[in-house]
Amino acid sequence: MGKEAKDFKNEVVLYAKMMDEKGLVNSVEGNLSVLDRSTGRLYITPSGRRKRFLTEETVAVLDNNEKQVEGEYKASSEYRLHLAALAARPDCNAVAHIHAPYLTAYAYCGKDIKLKCSTTFAMLFGEIPCLPYGRPGTVHIFDGIEEALKDHDLVLLANHGCAAVGKTLEDACKLVEAAEEVLKIYHLTREIGPVSDIPEDELEVLGELLKNR
Ligand SMILES: [Zn+2]
Repeated sequence: MGKEAKDFKNEVVLYAKMMDEKGLVNSVEGNLSVLDRSTGRLYITPSGRRKRFLTEETVAVLDNNEKQVEGEYKASSEYRLHLAALAARPDCNAVAHIHAPYLTAYAYCGKDIKLKCSTTFAMLFGEIPCLPYGRPGTVHIFDGIEEALKDHDLVLLANHGCAAVGKTLEDACKLVEAAEEVLKIYHLTREIGPVSDIPEDELEVLGELLKNR
């Protein structure tokens, strides 16, 4: 039996709360969504609500004309970003748009992330590209996302935050958590220094593992 509306709502509520507990989202920053590809309905966190207090009734549901058909509160204003990411990646059904502090710090600098010192980073990401600045709530916040998501599951949005795609919210959120953890450790590493990079030929092997995942 396929998933029902309540399953999609549950998934959004569960991961929104989990990300809140980890301090990765707050009342005004971050939103999560799941797309039911059989109906075209998007289930997304509502705007301006504390994620910890979300219930199934508060999850906003948009039909395939982007019209809100369920939910006590207005859908996140970033729903277009979610739809663009999901259109770019038909193999994915979930988007986590999160302002995780270490990732967002790179986004504030407008920098792609290329680390050579972490096996986790090499095997999960290789690189995390940063999209150009675009005003939040407009279509420009995701300019370039289609191209960037061809080769990456996690991208930075300049001066704003990051967005990850996955088959499920578990997959999307775990990418954000893993990247955030690696960057946190990288900043400790720089304190100790000098950073010891993985040799280039070994990075290539790890990169191949990433491609064949
Ligand atoms: Zn945002």
